[in-house]
Amino acid sequence: MTGNQSVTVDFDPQILLERAREARERAYAPYSNYRVGAALLGRSGRIYTGCNVENAVYPLCTCAERTAVVKAVSEGEREFVALAVVTENGGTPCGACRQTLREFAEDLIILIGDAAGHYRQTTLSQLLPESFSAADLPLAPLEPSRLAGHP
Ligand SMILES: [Zn+2]
Repeated sequence: MTGNQSVTVDFDPQILLERAREARERAYAPYSNYRVGAALLGRSGRIYTGCNVENAVYPLCTCAERTAVVKAVSEGEREFVALAVVTENGGTPCGACRQTLREFAEDLIILIGDAAGHYRQTTLSQLLPESFSAADLPLAPLEPSRLAGHP
């Protein structure tokens, strides 16, 4: 897929949010007690879930969203349609996760849900405007999306 093409993939927001809620149950967050679950829908239709995994050495904590991205890419998926993230209070993805997602999807749909079952929809480009990407590098490698299917 090239940059200007847009492919619409139908998906059920409630299914993605439910998978994120399930992942949130597995969060390992003994320090912050801020439990986060994420569910990332790949263009293949497969859903990759993640939860936050904290560590006594705080900088080693990993966010739910990045857990999901790493799982997906390590299993061969690099193009994504939507991400659901669920927290207690509807918190949004942190800056590090926004940039990590940007590596693979410029305009990802993002569903932000809370523990009460409410959610709102936004996009990665709204959360991370004027983002930096591989295209900004003078010796840019192929865009990751062009490498999809060619690990
Ligand atoms: Zn994060």
